[in-house]
Amino acid sequence: MKNVKIIAGPCAIESEEQIIRIAKQLKEIGVDYLRGGAFKPRTNPESFQGLGDKGIEYLLKAKEETGLPVVTELMSIEQVRKYADKIDIIQIGSRNMYNYELLKELGKYDKPVLLKRGLSATYKEWISAAKYINGGKNVILCERGIRSFDNSTRNVLDLQAIPYIKKNTNYDIIIDPSHAAGNTYMIEPMSLAAVAAGCDGLIIEVHDRPEEALCDKEQAIDMECIKSITTKAKSLCKTLNKK
Ligand code: PEP
Ligand code: MN
Repeated sequence: MKNVKIIAGPCAIESEEQIIRIAKQLKEIGVDYLRGGAFKPRTNPESFQGLGDKGIEYLLKAKEETGLPVVTELMSIEQVRKYADKIDIIQIGSRNMYNYELLKELGKYDKPVLLKRGLSATYKEWISAAKYINGGKNVILCERGIRSFDNSTRNVLDLQAIPYIKKNTNYDIIIDPSHAAGNTYMIEPMSLAAVAAGCDGLIIEVHDRPEEALCDKEQAIDMECIKSITTKAKSLCKTLNKK
């Protein structure tokens, strides 16, 4: 049985130096993939929108320096045409889960797609969206928290998605506790709960200087925390799979 995959990195690529510096530390810790956004779908148009093409260039340099495969969000058909061959896993953000033209385009490439669940999408809508990507071949689903009436946290992490997806589909499912919680103190407990529930991987926002992060700084965990999660998640997964 394969062990749980850890995808970690900053919400946004901020500079060449920042992404390479963080990637080297994550490599040392033993994460499996590096994440980092170049095209950022920000709720507020005045917020930092990402470095765009330059960001992808820096992310690919970080890959070259560390050997870590990379996961990054693409938001348009044009971006998919330009970068599908260069990145290892294409992330489709929550806001684009219903963008069927974009999903159809992704199906033309032989690349894994991490399809995030829409902000308030049902399981059925999410699974149907996956089918737009070449019938669902090469799709990995990602639960990232759904809207609720309670704004004490950013969203609510729906861990029931794990057994539901396992029972009803053949997709792998990855959990993003960062965008669900919107804070740092829930990331480790929610990550371990997700592993206990049988997820295939975790995608977590990390920064070595969280207070300086240009995007989602309130949920960025530090290097010590990602180290602890990586060690515990992999060991928990091994223990559970031994039974
Ligand atoms: C992200 O991963 O940085 C992101 C914007 O995620 P989501 O689409 O889940 O909001
Ligand atoms: Mn983010």
